[in-house]
Formats: sequence, structure tokens, C-alpha cells
Amino acid sequence: MKTILYRAAFKKRFRAAPARPIVTFCFDDFPRSAFEAGAPVLESRGARATFYACAGLMASGARPKLATPQMLAEAIARGHEVANHTFTHPNLRDLPSARIVEQLRRNQEALPPGATRHFAYPFGAGDTRVEWIVSRLAPTARSCVPGINAGLASTHWLRANELYACNDPARPLRLIEENRRRKGWLIFFTHGVSAAPGPYDATPDLLAATLDAALTSGAEVLPVDAAWRRIRRGD
Ligand SMILES: [Zn+2]
Repeated sequence: MKTILYRAAFKKRFRAAPARPIVTFCFDDFPRSAFEAGAPVLESRGARATFYACAGLMASGARPKLATPQMLAEAIARGHEVANHTFTHPNLRDLPSARIVEQLRRNQEALPPGATRHFAYPFGAGDTRVEWIVSRLAPTARSCVPGINAGLASTHWLRANELYACNDPARPLRLIEENRRRKGWLIFFTHGVSAAPGPYDATPDLLAATLDAALTSGAEVLPVDAAWRRIRRGD
């Protein structure tokens, strides 16, 4: 019975048809380098990003490369968005339902004032049950399934595309062109930003080139919450 309820309720959809195409840049887990090397690239072009943060990982000190709580607050003060990525970054498919709720709530309480309730799944991992629970707590949730949100899109399974230095650099440019034609909402995600990138990071050059291509295409570059509001207003 519960399964039937999930199936009936979880597929919240929305029409992604902004007047101008939108491109969003996200940084997951909020490494320090995303703040120090990524945020300035966006700001230099008048754009802002979304940082999906796990307050529990930051507080533990186990991941010294992550941003500090002060950096979270400063990112918000500079016009960026800080959003929810769970408290300790578990695979939500492995957790009982009450623990999933706790992971989102605890993190939300620990994030600084001004953080939004938008959500990204750790490891991009979700299923029908997880998506249904998240849909009760977050206005949107972002997956790691590639593609463009255009036409009828899933509110709690937003498509998003890797922006990693190890990938084909032409792919983001092709996506930007496709998003221009389809007038959709294209989301990129990465982690750190470094001239010596790890496998899940971007370089400053890749970030700058992709951002410039997005702006040249006529897209608006907006954080998730601003994009979501724009799409919901229908302008
Ligand atoms: Zn993550």
C-alpha cells in the first residue's frame, strides 16, 4: 500500500519553459576551493552559483578541504545560494525513512540564515521512496542524471550534468547550444575548482569557458532558487 502511495505522489512535475534559457552552476559538498577559486569566476561575470553543503562533514573536521561555516555565510552575503545536501552525505537509499528526514532537517538547522531548502541527492542516489520523502521537505531536488530540464520536468529529480576536467570539454558546449534551442533549464555540477583538479573537480579555465559560453548563448545564469522562482512565475 505504501509503495502505491509513493508511486501516486512522488512524481511532482513542472513545466520548464522560461522566457530565456537558464543555466545553473552548482558545487556539491562545498569544497574550500569552490569558494576560493570558483565563486570569483562567477562573480567576475556578474553571476552567482548554488553550493550544496553538508554541515556535519564541515563540523567534523574530517574533511579539511571543505569550506568553513564562515565561508558559507560569506557566500550567502555575496549573493550565492547555499542549499541542502544532507548532514553527513549518506547514500539515502540505505537509510530508513525517519533517518532520511533527520538528515535533511538536521542539516537545514545547521546551515546559516539565508540558506534555501533546495536539495541535491548525495552520490545522485535516490529511488521512489527517497524521492517521495524528499519531496515533502524540499522545493526541488537535483539528481546526477544528465540532460536538460525542458518541457515537462521532474521537480524532485532535476537533471544535472558533470562539469569535470577529466570529461570531454566539448560536451558542456553542446549542452549549452541544445539548451538555447530548447529554451530549457540546464544545470551543471562539480565539486572543487583547481588548476590541479581531482577526478570530480573543474579547472578555473573550464568553469570560465563554460560560463562564458552560457552567457554568450543568451542564457541567464542563476542559482537554483532564483531559476526556480523565475520558472514558476513564468517569465
Ligand atoms: Zn555530494
